[in-house]
Amino acid sequence: MKNIEFLMKKLEEGQILLLDGATGTELEKRGVPMHSKAWSAEAVVTHPAEVQAVHREYIDAGADLITVNSFSLAKHMLIPAGLAEQFRRMNSEAVKLAVRAREESAAGQVAIAGSIAPTTFGSGILPGYPHRPEALSWYVEQAEVLAEAGADILIIEMIEDLEKGSLAVQAARATGLPVWLGFSCRRNAAGELMLWDLRHTLTEGVAAISRIGGSAAFVMHTDVSEATEAFAELKACWPVSSGPLGIYAHSGFFVMPHWQFTDISPADYALAAGGWIDMGARIIGGCCGIGPAHIRELKKRYC
Ligand SMILES: [Zn+2]
Repeated sequence: MKNIEFLMKKLEEGQILLLDGATGTELEKRGVPMHSKAWSAEAVVTHPAEVQAVHREYIDAGADLITVNSFSLAKHMLIPAGLAEQFRRMNSEAVKLAVRAREESAAGQVAIAGSIAPTTFGSGILPGYPHRPEALSWYVEQAEVLAEAGADILIIEMIEDLEKGSLAVQAARATGLPVWLGFSCRRNAAGELMLWDLRHTLTEGVAAISRIGGSAAFVMHTDVSEATEAFAELKACWPVSSGPLGIYAHSGFFVMPHWQFTDISPADYALAAGGWIDMGARIIGGCCGIGPAHIRELKKRYC
């Protein structure tokens, strides 16, 4: 727990914790190829220097916590991509690149989060997932590898429904590491804000998932324009005693496997984040389309 005690201390002192920005879309911006089925997964073995450089840039920008590039290293994404035999090696390498970035940096304390994404994001999704009997064991194995390789925290990213999200949280909890919950929202055709699967509300998602575990919760991979409304809903339904709340929103959209950047200036993103802090967000950062310049601006203004 040594790498996260400082996070808790900062929160107790009323400071705002700063996360990093996007890793996958930042790699794409730097010319790293994106896989049609496994998005940025391969970068940890094909472009390790670039992955480590992105982590390093976020540490230098002042991030208290960086998230490793394991979002698309879930087995249900690697199997359709033909990369399943590299599952353990890639997840382990993802953590090691973040650890190396921390070691080479002169910055202060930095925590490292392993990302576990239960989403059906991507085009190569396995038939029957997540109801296949082995689905839980895939998450258990990923959580174990990330923990063994040195992750300090596990963030369940892009919780988009109740079934898959529950499996991932259950698996992450078994490691004994703190588990943080990242909920993704978007609007349905009627304009209502829903979980990403468009079948459940965020309130339903939080009710189901927070019973399993989670010591912090986020609105993440949600458009900046929708994050404020989503955060108000999260705040209304998250049990206060369970832990702090935060936001890391995105700007742009996918035409898989490529992110379409819609430029939001660091100043405009920071302005939105200021509103989230006023609403009670204690942890802020950025998701897809949000880069080091945005994180530097957040550091300057709030952290
Ligand atoms: Zn994102």
